[in-house]
Amino acid sequence: MKTADYIALEERYNAHNYLPLDVVLTRGEGVWVWDVEGRRYLDCLSAYSALNQGHNHPRLVAALTRQAQRLSLTSRAFRNDQLPLLARELCELLGYDMMLPMNTGAEAVETAIKAARKWGYTVKGVPDGQAEIIACTGNFHGRTTTIVGFSSEEAYRAGFGPFTPGFRLVPYGDAEALEHAITPNTVGFLFEPIQGEAGVVVPPEGYLRKVREVCSRHRVLMIADEIQTGLGRTGRLLACEHEGVRADMVTLGKALAGGMYPVSAVLASREALGLFRPGDHGSTFGGNPLGCAVAREALRVIVEEHLCERAAELGEYVLGRLRAIPSPWIAECRGKGLLIGIQLTPEAGGARRFCEALKARGVLAKETHGTVIRLAPPLIISRDDLEWMIEQVTEVLMAEVPQPNRAARR
Ligand SMILES: *Cc1c(COP(=O)(O)O)cnc(C)c1O
Repeated sequence: MKTADYIALEERYNAHNYLPLDVVLTRGEGVWVWDVEGRRYLDCLSAYSALNQGHNHPRLVAALTRQAQRLSLTSRAFRNDQLPLLARELCELLGYDMMLPMNTGAEAVETAIKAARKWGYTVKGVPDGQAEIIACTGNFHGRTTTIVGFSSEEAYRAGFGPFTPGFRLVPYGDAEALEHAITPNTVGFLFEPIQGEAGVVVPPEGYLRKVREVCSRHRVLMIADEIQTGLGRTGRLLACEHEGVRADMVTLGKALAGGMYPVSAVLASREALGLFRPGDHGSTFGGNPLGCAVAREALRVIVEEHLCERAAELGEYVLGRLRAIPSPWIAECRGKGLLIGIQLTPEAGGARRFCEALKARGVLAKETHGTVIRLAPPLIISRDDLEWMIEQVTEVLMAEVPQPNRAARR
């Protein structure tokens, strides 16, 4: 079967809830992926930062197969010998009291919302049914009906109401707007330290510190969604560390199991997560031994391969090089670590055509919000491969018309 055959099947039998680039991948290794025609590409999306450790990391493959041969799933009706170890290792690594494991990012966010509301009613004394959570314009926290209900993106909401009440939005990056929106019933402020899906939007310097201060003063839980920014992507284990700030609650997902398995978690103090009682919340697969074993190894890889340091150093270098490209199409290059967005000018004609041109040259990147090219390669990327990526990006952005297919063959 060729590329066109797979695409035809997918279009016929699979719901059209994405608009993927027309490349059909069949194999991956490190920063590289291969399509069914044998063409090789540099993966510059890393599955939205789930693949910080790279494709098929040998240590993760080994951890997965080892655990799969022993025990995959117990449900939480019984205990297993991997969950307690992941819980301790994750909490010690990130400096939190407790964790609650889930599978997808959206579930971790839902869990944080439930935990914050419960804290509001039992600790802060908010009247029953009145809890409010403040989120930001441009937010992305997943796709459940509750979460899309407080999205400011019309496409995420249209046709899916009615929505869950109890949320309000304030402009991202504006701590004063947050303070004004707080009422005695506000239990949490949910935000991304950098807005990935909104187009790699970096808030003004000092924003996280101000948010911390406002949340503490009004007794509101600061809830950082680090599902995309966490675990090394921005050059720190948590992006909040860039401003020396510790959120009350953190959601993690994506790279938590290195793209090998869906594992997500909420981390928080005992005051918040300690409120859950048996029966309050659950998930058949959450905390399963297979996911926990892979996540434990994925965390060790991040630490032992110095992925935070790599992201910080390489990211600064790439950003400098991108900012020096004298292309008429570039409005701004921004980001932290290896989470980088190239904001195009209105005249550029959208980011999609540049992503298509990059694909023809063997670089896979995806447009976000129409006018931003996101570059987020696995953090294990070598200097040479990064250099090659910069060359391709430069040539595509300097070309008046995207070049025809020149993808490397192997
Ligand atoms: C991807 C993402 C999510 C949702 O994760 P899923 O695993 O797709 O449910 C939530 N928050 C942020 C910031 C994300 O980037």
